[in-house]
Amino acid sequence: MEDGSWKHGTVRFEFAKELIIIISAFYSPFMMVWDPTYVLIIIGMLLSLAASGMVRSTYAKYSGVRAMSGMTGAQAAERILHSKGIYDVRIEHVSGNLTDHYDPRSKVLRLSDTVFGSTSVAAIGVAAHECGHAVQHQEGYAPLSIRTAIVPVTNFAATLSWPLILIGLLLSQRTGNLLIQIGILLFCAVVLFQLITLPVEFNASSRAITLLKQNGILYENEAKMTGKVLRAAALTYVASAAASILQLLRLIILFGGRNRDD
Ligand SMILES: [Zn+2]
Repeated sequence: MEDGSWKHGTVRFEFAKELIIIISAFYSPFMMVWDPTYVLIIIGMLLSLAASGMVRSTYAKYSGVRAMSGMTGAQAAERILHSKGIYDVRIEHVSGNLTDHYDPRSKVLRLSDTVFGSTSVAAIGVAAHECGHAVQHQEGYAPLSIRTAIVPVTNFAATLSWPLILIGLLLSQRTGNLLIQIGILLFCAVVLFQLITLPVEFNASSRAITLLKQNGILYENEAKMTGKVLRAAALTYVASAAASILQLLRLIILFGGRNRDD
């Protein structure tokens, strides 16, 4: 349920996270065996795990509830877009699970296997959420514009921040410190991106619920169930933003005082 272009960033980011965890096991400035700031990483991982577990179970539960209107995710999306006067957004089928997204550059709304042809309140909710992004795009909703604009910077920052920090650790104090500081600054950009994602996601979901009711696609009680699915999905964004903030905090604790050593 995210922007396609960010997905690459996420993948690299996840990989980098694993890498720093492995390196952390060897590099520990406070203790030989246990680095206490590692707790922050563990809290972040637990938050992300809990959120993704919750979205999966909520989605599974409500993907078994068929909407009374009998509309599929794709049909619901089409009706919503047309109701907002949007005729230039293509609706396509994309393989995978929860790979649904709206691509603002090509104006394509891609719905996954479990959403496109499904008539469940969960599937219709996800389809409507993506429509919410298309409507944001059409209306020039500022947080979405900012988010789209900073995607390239964020991908660059996410790719370079951890390698710079790791290289910085190996180099002499002065050059090393500089690289570490740049690395931390780049990581701040990643955190900022995740923060700007939050209003975009919450807003798309609230638009979705309103549009589903307005267009007679879901009844009030169905919209309540859909709301639960979308809120659970939004929680995963909150959890990953929180995890990144904790990682940033850890970086600052670990390296913030490194200048004073020399
Ligand atoms: Zn979204």
